[in-house]
Amino acid sequence: MANLILRETAGNPQRVALLFEAGASILASDGSVPFHVHTCPSDGKREAHAWRCNSPYCSIFEDLCPDHGGIEPVRVGREPWRGR
Ligand SMILES: [Zn+2]
Ligand SMILES: [Zn+2]
Repeated sequence: MANLILRETAGNPQRVALLFEAGASILASDGSVPFHVHTCPSDGKREAHAWRCNSPYCSIFEDLCPDHGGIEPVRVGREPWRGR
């Protein structure tokens, strides 16, 4: 099973999902950073694609990614409601 995943990733480098790094320091019990998948919808010129992010503040999961004009998810420590 592991070999199959490795081969598929190596053969399709552009399929590696974007990851929005929100600076979350919360780790799952296995030591990995939890993330979720957003869907950047198709605009007619390009296909929809998935992008991952680990911001703990997301509530909408079908939205443009930051690379395509979407609003960046809230970063940990930069919450707008905190004021500065
Ligand atoms: Zn998110
Ligand atoms: Zn996108």
